[in-house]
Amino acid sequence: MFENLSDRLERSFKILKGEGKITEINVAETLKDVRRALLDADVNYKVAKTFTDTVKQKALGMNVLTVVKPGQLMVKIVHDELAELMGGKASDLHLDGKPAIILMSGLQGSGKTTFSGKLANMLKAKNRKNPLLVACDVYRPAAIEQLGVVGQTVGVPVYSEPGNKDVVAIANNAIREARAKGNDVVIIDTAGRLAIDEQMMDEIAALKQAVNPDETLFVVDAMTGQDAVNTAKEFNDRLDFDGVVLTKLDGDTRGGAALSIRTVVTKPIKFVGTGEKMEAIDVFHPDRMADRILG
Ligand code: GDP
Repeated sequence: MFENLSDRLERSFKILKGEGKITEINVAETLKDVRRALLDADVNYKVAKTFTDTVKQKALGMNVLTVVKPGQLMVKIVHDELAELMGGKASDLHLDGKPAIILMSGLQGSGKTTFSGKLANMLKAKNRKNPLLVACDVYRPAAIEQLGVVGQTVGVPVYSEPGNKDVVAIANNAIREARAKGNDVVIIDTAGRLAIDEQMMDEIAALKQAVNPDETLFVVDAMTGQDAVNTAKEFNDRLDFDGVVLTKLDGDTRGGAALSIRTVVTKPIKFVGTGEKMEAIDVFHPDRMADRILG
C-alpha cells in the first residue's frame, strides 16, 4: 500500500536527515521533492501545492533551521499535515435510526457488494448488530446472487425481490421486514454503471430521498486515483453523501485518492477495503495512514 509514495518521501528527506548543516535551500529543495512525490502519487495539483505551502509555513514558524534535528522535525510536520489532509481523526458511522439505514453508492465494480458484506460482518462481530442486507441492484440478476453468496458467507440474511425493478418499493419492504424480524441495521446495495449516467443518479437520489438513510456511503476503487476523486465529486454533488469507502487499497501503490478526496469533496473517508475477503475491512484512521506512508 502506497509503496511508491513512501519510497519517494523517504528519499526526499535524506538530505535533511544527514549530518551537515541545513540551509534554507535544502528545505526548499526537500519541499519541491515532496510536492513532486505527491503529484507522482496522483494527488490533485492544488492539494499538493497547498500542502507544501502549509508545511513550509509551519517549518519556518518552528525555526526548523535552528533546531538540533531539523530532518526529524520536518518529518513530523509532514506527518501531521498528511494526517490533517486525510481528515485528522477517524469518523464514526451514524447508526441511530431504528433500524439504522446505510445506503451504498458508487460505480459498478467499485466494490459495493463486497463492502456491504464486509460492513455487515464487522457490525455483527464488533457492534453486536443484527444486520439485513438488501439487494437493490436490480439490473443484473448476477448482482442479486452475488449479494446472496456474500450474505451466506458472513451469516447475514439478504432481502431481495427478483423481477421487481422498483428499488424504492424493495427498500421500503426490506425496512418493514427488518422491523418485523428485529434487524437493527439495514444495508442497501445499489446498482452502479461503468460510468456515471443520469438514470443511475436519478434512481439513487430518489432512493435516498425515500428511505432517508442514517448514512450514505460512496464506495470507490482507490486504484483509479484522480478518477476516483472526480467521480466522488459528481456523486457528492448529486447525493450529498456522508462518507467515503476506499476499496482495493491493497493494490494501490500511489495513494492519490486517499490524499486528495477529503479536500476535494469535504467528506471523510470512513472505511478502507484491503482485500477480497470479508475480513479485509478497516476503519480509516488518518494518523495511522500517515504513519504508514512515512514508514
Ligand atoms: P460492485 O460492482 O461495486 O458491487 O463491486 P464488487 O463488490 O462486485 O467488487 C468488484 C471486484 O473487486 C470483485 O472482484 C471484488 O472481489 C473486488 N474487490 C472489492 N473490494 C476489494 C478490495 O478491497 N481489495 C481487492 N483486492 N479487491 C476487492
